Amino acid sequence: MVKELPWLQTKKATTSMTMRLYDTARQEIVDLELGDHVRMYVCGITPYDSTHLGHAATYLTYDLIIRRLEDLGHTVELVRNVTDVDDSILPKARELGIDFLQLAESEINRFTQDMEALNTRPAALEPRATESIVGMIELIRGLESGGHTYTVDGVTYFDVTTFVSFGELSHLTNEEMTALAAERGGSPDDPRQRNALDFVLWQPSADDEPRWDSPFGAGRPGWHIECSAMSMDALGTTIDIHGGGEDLIFPHHECEIAQSESVTGVTFSRYWVHTGLVGYQGTKMSKSLGNLVFVSDLRQEIDPRAIRLALMAHHYRSNFEWFDEEASDAQSDLDRLVRAAGKADPVSHGPLVDEVRSALDDDLDTPRVRAALLGAAQSIEDGAGPPHRGCLVAAASLCGIDLH
Ligand SMILES: [Zn+2]
Repeated sequence: MVKELPWLQTKKATTSMTMRLYDTARQEIVDLELGDHVRMYVCGITPYDSTHLGHAATYLTYDLIIRRLEDLGHTVELVRNVTDVDDSILPKARELGIDFLQLAESEINRFTQDMEALNTRPAALEPRATESIVGMIELIRGLESGGHTYTVDGVTYFDVTTFVSFGELSHLTNEEMTALAAERGGSPDDPRQRNALDFVLWQPSADDEPRWDSPFGAGRPGWHIECSAMSMDALGTTIDIHGGGEDLIFPHHECEIAQSESVTGVTFSRYWVHTGLVGYQGTKMSKSLGNLVFVSDLRQEIDPRAIRLALMAHHYRSNFEWFDEEASDAQSDLDRLVRAAGKADPVSHGPLVDEVRSALDDDLDTPRVRAALLGAAQSIEDGAGPPHRGCLVAAASLCGIDLH
């Protein structure tokens, strides 16, 4: 991890800027009104496949937000869960003929190494779904006693008609939600459901699947309840910022809100921040197409700092395509930054640092940050203007790129 630079600490006290980010629920860029201590929950991986570039782009985004909030004087408590039991890891473990926890263990290790290589701030806590079952059962019991559930054939569902604000995060119509639910793990056509958008809280396990005892029968949790329980266990009933990829807005996050707020009666998350999706050379990047770009492969090819720099070329909310040549371009860009930083001079306050801070505050405008860093490196190399190599090092450090 990068060492804290002393100038960053002294600068904290003098700044009065506020970070602004796009909030999915409000559908606009808003000032983040945060206390000293910020509670952030980001949906983590399902450990059945290696970390790909889409994961890297997502976790880099929250890492940059954390770094800027820390720079502004906040402490950030990041909780990022591990979905080690759900409808995707179990079939994969079955296919490989290994225990699902064994599969999870090796993929979690790989993910941790990738995140460390990318210099992302470690999470304060990484709860695993399989170790948080008690909290999930408690939550479902709370929902049951509030009249939000029903059980058919051993499957306990959440009844969405009992939560009037269902749909207010995604702003989708019922028809749009129904279509997406079918695509993303829901079962709108299941005749046992009272409403197409109802979702599973608890279900019986197949013969070769893990099961836990519960008041609703032996079985396993639904996907959405896992994150509500892990978030509330770790961070309390209200968190400040909830993150994840934009494909989680519906149904995952919409369902998290419904379950959580139905039990607590208070706002589940004050801000919702979502990242765009990464494609590959004109097509969807997906497991089924076999074109996932894995971080572990990419960092054999280029410096992990160059991966950060490459991803910063794309705004976090945009869906973008990754092209192979971006890797070598990013490595050349990084080389230029390293060359320009050279023997850093002691001057570390300057317009470049202010420019980077204000671009980060402006809905995390990383393309602008990247252009500012490369522009400064160019002028240092050209000998134009004051060299201020120390400013370049300081500004890059704000973005988690160590040029020392
Ligand atoms: Zn989640």
